[in-house]
Amino acid sequence: MSTQAIETTRFLSHDAVRTIAHQFGTPVYVYDEARLTQAAQEVLHFPNAFGLTARYAMKALPNGNILRLFDRLGLHFDASSGFEVERAMQAGIAAHKIALTAQELPQNFPTLHAAGVALNACSLAQLRYFGERFPGQELGIRFNPGLGSGGTNRTNVGGPAASFGIWHEDRATVQAIVRKHALKVIRIHTHIGSGSDPEVWQHVAGMSIGLLEHFPDAHTLNLGGGYKVGRMSHETSTDLQEVGQPVVQTFVAFGEATGRRIQLEVEPGTYLVANAGCVITTIHDRTRTGKDGYDFLKIDSGMTEVLRPSMYGAQHPLVVVPATEAAEQEQGLTLDAIVAGHCCESGDILTPSAGDPEALEPRTLRDAAIGDYLVIEGTGAYCSGMSSKNYNSFPEAPEVLYRGPEQEPVLIRKRQTLDQIVQNEVLV
Ligand SMILES: *Cc1c(COP(=O)(O)O)cnc(C)c1O
Repeated sequence: MSTQAIETTRFLSHDAVRTIAHQFGTPVYVYDEARLTQAAQEVLHFPNAFGLTARYAMKALPNGNILRLFDRLGLHFDASSGFEVERAMQAGIAAHKIALTAQELPQNFPTLHAAGVALNACSLAQLRYFGERFPGQELGIRFNPGLGSGGTNRTNVGGPAASFGIWHEDRATVQAIVRKHALKVIRIHTHIGSGSDPEVWQHVAGMSIGLLEHFPDAHTLNLGGGYKVGRMSHETSTDLQEVGQPVVQTFVAFGEATGRRIQLEVEPGTYLVANAGCVITTIHDRTRTGKDGYDFLKIDSGMTEVLRPSMYGAQHPLVVVPATEAAEQEQGLTLDAIVAGHCCESGDILTPSAGDPEALEPRTLRDAAIGDYLVIEGTGAYCSGMSSKNYNSFPEAPEVLYRGPEQEPVLIRKRQTLDQIVQNEVLV
């Protein structure tokens, strides 16, 4: 028996769930424009001493309509690959608003650079590459500050076990390469992980500003993203004002000591989109595995749309919505169930134990019948963009934006067809 509260839908009424399911079919991603806008405003008001650029880490949810919405609201962008850069530019984002912070530099990097895309060099090899081709020019450098934080070891991207950024002890080598090519390091960048604890984040902010002492041309410190978001109702989200205020003092103190007014950059992904998205699925089967077993609800979705539970043991609110308005009236019964995805993969489970994808933890839900809907909440970030797409030849699910004061559901990505799944196959 689970001790957690029965979750409720976050931004869709049960009627809206049924309407959208009828109109677009299931599974379907739905994003709430009002919540996206609210989160963007919060990030744009991140505490800062001498100015702020807020970027959206677009890998969290890369649909072009989301990028355009954030662009209109005043956000800039962080891209994790050359393909993301091009995708953003295709959606109409100006190149000068995009920074590339990537494990792998694209072949066409010189073209993107010429268009105005900024680079944060993430390795000594990237720094040398840039120096040889673009001597005397401006760039940023991503350091691994030696300390990381993250919801799980899979989301921690700082410290000795993470390959992201240049190891902080290699600073002298960095300076030598910078001198050799007369580069101008205008931005220092750190990003330590997703789901960071505020204390660790503040500590790393302090360490990172220390790096600026060695880079006199740097006018900007980018502290990455990673602000923890509570998806389940018992979890809490980062208060950006609270986490940011002490860092303002750090910038002010640095300014008094050095006369340098350092600009702040932040680049959240999760914070901007996580709780602004859900996936509507249909319960298509139920089964019980004996007296000592479990009740399973099987849905028409799973790791093909939401991989995080199988990958990290991430917990998402799960809400049963009756198939009809009439069935809404039947109250009272609950069910402790394991929710299984539709992939032929025993790890395709929506109800792992927190942080442990291998342990099953029955969830208390409203009792459900075949044909009812199950809404997976908190799926705005790292779901549509990070799934085991096309496994078992399930087509990519459509995306809908719940838009405007009328809260009109607008299709922003069609459901994929089988032909599209196999279109690049060459039958010989
Ligand atoms: C993924 C990523 C982010 C965003 O992380 P969130 O945890 O989604 O906020 C920011 N910066 C860089 C460099 C990233 O790789």
